[in-house]
Amino acid sequence: MIQKITTAAIVGALITGCGSPPDSVDGSETASPQVEEPSLHKSLLVLDSHLDTPALFHRDTYSFAERGSFAIDGTNVDLPRIRAGGLDGGFWVIFTRQGPLDEASYIDARTSALLRQMSIRELAARYSSEVELAFNADDADRIHEAGKVVVFQSMENAYPLGEDLSLLETFYVGGLRMLGPVHFSNNQFADSSTDSVVLYEGLSPLGEALVREANRLGIMLDASHASDAALIDMMRVSTTPIILSHSGPDGVYDHARNVPDELLIELAESGGVVHVNAFGGYLEELQQSPELKAAMDSLNAEFGSDLTALSPERAEEYRTARGKVFEEHPPPRSTFEKYLEHLFYVLDLVGPDHVGIGADWDGGGGVDGMEDVAAIPKVTAALIDAGYTEDDIEKIWSGNLLRLMREVEAARTTTLASPAIVR
Ligand SMILES: [Zn+2]
Repeated sequence: MIQKITTAAIVGALITGCGSPPDSVDGSETASPQVEEPSLHKSLLVLDSHLDTPALFHRDTYSFAERGSFAIDGTNVDLPRIRAGGLDGGFWVIFTRQGPLDEASYIDARTSALLRQMSIRELAARYSSEVELAFNADDADRIHEAGKVVVFQSMENAYPLGEDLSLLETFYVGGLRMLGPVHFSNNQFADSSTDSVVLYEGLSPLGEALVREANRLGIMLDASHASDAALIDMMRVSTTPIILSHSGPDGVYDHARNVPDELLIELAESGGVVHVNAFGGYLEELQQSPELKAAMDSLNAEFGSDLTALSPERAEEYRTARGKVFEEHPPPRSTFEKYLEHLFYVLDLVGPDHVGIGADWDGGGGVDGMEDVAAIPKVTAALIDAGYTEDDIEKIWSGNLLRLMREVEAARTTTLASPAIVR
C-alpha cells in the first residue's frame, strides 16, 4: 500500500528540502530538554548523514552561533545544540527545489546550488575555530580530534546539474562527496519514490551516466528519495556500494519513501548502508485533525498548488501563515519510541555493520522526545540498553559511513588531483 503524501509536513518539505519544520508549536516548551549524555557517546565520532541546515543559512531569523529552539523557531541544528548533543558533524546538504526539466530552469537551479555550496563553505570560513570542511574520511578523524565540527557536503537532487555532467566535477572540487540523483519528483536522471508517474522504470540513460561519473570522481551515491527501481539500477550500475542517507523500512510503515526488506538486505549484502530517518510522516501514519486540514487547504488555495514556485519572500510569508495555523491546530507528531522501532527493525534486518543515523534535521526530521540534535545521546543510550556493543555503536554513528566513503575514495579513477590537494 502506498500512502498518498498530503500532510502539512510534506507541503513544507517543498519549501526547504526534505520537509520544513513547523514554525511554531506549543509555546509551553521553550527550550529543548538537556539530555544526559552517556560517556560512550562523548568519546565516539558521531556523524549524521543528512543535515538540511544549509537551507536556513540565508534566513535573517537563523544564527548558527546562537541556540535556537524547535518549540519557538522550528529549527533543529546550531552550534550550541551540536555541542550539547555531542554531534561531531556530518553531511551538510545542498538541496535544490525542482522546476521544469528545461535548459533555462537548469541554469537557475545551477546558480542556486552553487550559491548553496558557497554558503556551506562560508560557514566553515566564518566559524573556522569551531567548524572545518572535510574532503575525505581521514579528514573526519583529524577534525574530530581537533575538537571541531566535521562538514562534509552532499547534494540532494542532482537536478541543478542539468544535462551537463561535467558540472559534477566543479561541485566535487568545492567539496561535494555524496550525491542523491532525485528528490520528490522525477527528473532528468531518475524516477522518484514519490512521483505518481513512472518515467524510466529506474534510472534514465543520463542517470546511468551520472552514476558512472560519481564513481569516477569518488562521490558516494545516495538513493534516498529514488524509486525502488532506481535504487536497483544504482546498485547495478555503480562500481561501489550505495548509501541511503535518510530512509526507513517499509517493514514498519509501508510508505513510498521507505524501502522494502528485500532491497535493504540486497543493499547491505552489496556493502551499502542505510541511515535511518526521523521524519515523522514516514515513521507512521499521522492523522491531521479536520480543523488542521481545512486550515491547510485554505492556505494552499491562497498560495497556489505549486509551492516550489514561490519567491523567497512569498515562501517566508507562507511559513509565517503556516506557523499561525500550526499554533492553532498543532500538527500530529511521531515519537522517539516510534523512531527506535524503525532503527531497531533495520538493525535486526541487516545488522549493525550496515546501519547509521540520518535523522533529516532541519528537513522535517525530529520527533516528540527527540526534537533536535541536543537529544541524540538518547539514541546511544537506547542502543546501549538494547545490548549493542561499543564497537557496534561506533559503527552506527560513523564507522559504517566512513568505511563506505573509504571504499568510494579507493575506487575513484579520475586523474583529478587527490582530495587533499584540491582542498
Ligand atoms: Zn530528503
